[in-house]
Amino acid sequence: MATETRISSAIHAPGAILLISCYELGHRPIGLTRPLRALEEAGFTPDVIDIAVESLDVEKVERARFIGISVPMHTALRLGISLLHRIRQINPDVSICMYGLYATLNAGYLLSHGVDFCISGEASTQLVELVESLVKEEQSEVQEPDFSIAELPPLELYAQFENDGEVRTVGYTETTHGCKHLCTHCPIPPVYDGRFLAVQRDTVLAEIHEQVVEGATHITFGDPDFLNGPTHGLRILRAMHETFPSLTFDFTTKVEHILKNREHFPEFAQLGCRFVISAVEALNECVLTILEKHHTRADVEEAIDIVHGAGIALRPTWVPFTPWTTLEDYLEILQFIDTHRLVYHVDPVQYTVRLLIPPGSYLLNRPEVETLSLTLDEAAFSYAWSHPDARMDELHKTVNDLVENDARAGVDALETFYRIWALAADMQGQAPPKQRGDVHLPAPRLTEAWFC
Ligand code: SF4
Repeated sequence: MATETRISSAIHAPGAILLISCYELGHRPIGLTRPLRALEEAGFTPDVIDIAVESLDVEKVERARFIGISVPMHTALRLGISLLHRIRQINPDVSICMYGLYATLNAGYLLSHGVDFCISGEASTQLVELVESLVKEEQSEVQEPDFSIAELPPLELYAQFENDGEVRTVGYTETTHGCKHLCTHCPIPPVYDGRFLAVQRDTVLAEIHEQVVEGATHITFGDPDFLNGPTHGLRILRAMHETFPSLTFDFTTKVEHILKNREHFPEFAQLGCRFVISAVEALNECVLTILEKHHTRADVEEAIDIVHGAGIALRPTWVPFTPWTTLEDYLEILQFIDTHRLVYHVDPVQYTVRLLIPPGSYLLNRPEVETLSLTLDEAAFSYAWSHPDARMDELHKTVNDLVENDARAGVDALETFYRIWALAADMQGQAPPKQRGDVHLPAPRLTEAWFC
């Protein structure tokens, strides 16, 4: 999608293309590294900034003729919008493209608020095509650059792997894009519509190699779901382990895939897997049906047994605030986490996650949504909803404040967990929970809490 814009062949000059990442879950942004490589291979000499770990370099913005802002998630888009206003003040005529999952979902708003282009999906290829189409009329000779000016921030600036005093530097890659599933709350289906694409094995292994050379001792495979293509993933893991036997890793996969691929988990452990993230989201059957997760509470328990049985930690993620999640359901989630000794497997921010319904969300196709009075808040990039039980909105606010304050004060996750539980129990007229601090053992994690 584009407004009319022309940029000259000077786009080949060093730094004429600038790629900016706003936020990518605390790891080195693949929204910078892959488009950077693709543009360099196409003959351009882009520069990069990751404002999650460095300040906005005004000189870089001034000399740019084309700026790509990576917005793979909601938080990044919100940051991207304030960045957009700053960029326009510094360099009013620069062409600005937002790319990543949240760009096309919100294209209507973005294109009418100062963005020239929005692209999603295979952003690297599309960015190259877009820039090439902009300079086509100039018939300019493309020179293969023999140097790169882009300096990526060091890996040490990003989230680290941490487990009971063991610290590792984390590298990041993805073996696939998109997802073959259609969970209604996820931003991926509206863009990929049930498709997933494998990234070439050599590309992934080269990215791992580069980051190991830079000091990475742990790799996060950030695929939306690493086990969409289990054979592809396993081949990469085996090759990686052969070259770097002491490298550890984590990946994300759905409960259904854990059950389906149970026989591979002992091998994942042997290859260096330390933890697996899985989007459990809810335990209530009705909520799981609306989110189209295709798992049950019993499946989650089985998945925990499979993963923990292999010596790998399972880190479940949650969406505990939805219009259909009751106070009883919220308390059930807390009880479940306590019973299964998962307190250190859950980042406290997870107890605050509130369902996000962006424009184009597949949730809008669900009949249950028709009864909600949704209003699109374009500037917030989502539909506003309130819970039929006002206590849940109040609980959300209180838990949110509590988690933020505890995080700032460095309060232990266990203490935060029991405080939240006491709050929710009190709201339900129940006695505070019995604290079982001794059964919850530290679990491997990244030092940046997951947050979309
Ligand atoms: S939540 Fe996970 S499994 Fe579901 S569509 Fe999104 S990436 Fe795929």
